[in-house]
Amino acid sequence: KGSNGNYTVTMIPGDGIGPEIAESVKSIFKAAKAPIDWEEVDVTPVLVNGKTAIPQDAIDSIKKNTVALKGPLATPIGKGHVSLNLTLRRTFSLFANVRPCVSIKGYKTAYDNVNTVLIRENTEGEYSGIEHEIVDGVVQSIKLITYEASERVARYAFHYAQENGRGEVTAVHKAPIMKMSDGMFLTACRAVAKEYPKVKYTEDLLDRVCLRIATDPSPFAERVMVMPNLYGDILSDLSAGLIGGLGLTPSGNIGKDASIFEAVHGSAPDIAGKGLANPTALLLSSLMMLRHMNLHSHADTIEKAALSTIAEGKHITRDLGGKAGTKEYTDAILARI
Ligand code: NAD
Repeated sequence: KGSNGNYTVTMIPGDGIGPEIAESVKSIFKAAKAPIDWEEVDVTPVLVNGKTAIPQDAIDSIKKNTVALKGPLATPIGKGHVSLNLTLRRTFSLFANVRPCVSIKGYKTAYDNVNTVLIRENTEGEYSGIEHEIVDGVVQSIKLITYEASERVARYAFHYAQENGRGEVTAVHKAPIMKMSDGMFLTACRAVAKEYPKVKYTEDLLDRVCLRIATDPSPFAERVMVMPNLYGDILSDLSAGLIGGLGLTPSGNIGKDASIFEAVHGSAPDIAGKGLANPTALLLSSLMMLRHMNLHSHADTIEKAALSTIAEGKHITRDLGGKAGTKEYTDAILARI
């Protein structure tokens, strides 16, 4: 918190449409008098000892502020480039990926009552990156599950449920098949559940959840789902599909040393620089950020203005079937604030 009473937050505008949607979010925060000072950093990769890395200034800024809002980063194609998103995840031990999916009134999809929250373990599981070839034609890939990481993500899921008025945490698993790995994930969840007697704890199989959520998402509205890495990666996109795709989906990466909030979509090179991008996903991510910082009333004000602008349908962007550009849509939100 600075001397003016504002919190300093690191802003990574990112690539492609990133700077355009970041500008929109900044103007909306200003109008809503959200107590945030942005510290803008560039994460264009630099070469350190022949390897691509994130500039030290950016890392120092996030370390100092502990909260960041991030636009999409284009991953360079070709050998020798590491994903910057992965680097950020590792640098700040971002252990939980939080993905809420809420139906947006005015944007018609198969269901209008989706309200899911999925929390994915973000550091290990099937994505631990341990693979090898045993003999020609036979490879082995290791799914690594530790009690420590399982307990950490489970505790965050219960904490999130309690803070956000959700009465149930469901651990999603395949323990009948993955007896030891998912078995231990469940053991950790059950242990943490005992610390939160007011939150109901249930378990469900991944395949059953996929079927049920696609058939009728309403039973998932009051709870938080928590699961290992790969399951969460897939199920979170399935949930995003239920509300109309990645363009409207926010996310938060909660970490030990910092938390980074970002839209789920990429840098949209096909529309970059044309003033057509929809800033809603980044805006909703910034609202998750405000709530993470306990700035609920500012988040509520902005959310109401944005969602009612979409519901009205007069000034919505092309991806939602409207004709407005980024600026016209942003101006309509500003007018409501
Ligand atoms: P993309 O999400 O950038 O685009 C897919 C389609 O959705 C495009 O037609 C695009 O115009 C549209 N779209 C996406 N966001 C939109 C928005 N806010 N408003 C309107 N339309 C939108 O996916 P892609 O084309 O596969 O990836 C482009 C680049 O982004 C790649 O370099 C990829 O690695 C990167 N990427 C980054 C992240 C991240 O930083 N978190 C996530 C995904 C992809």
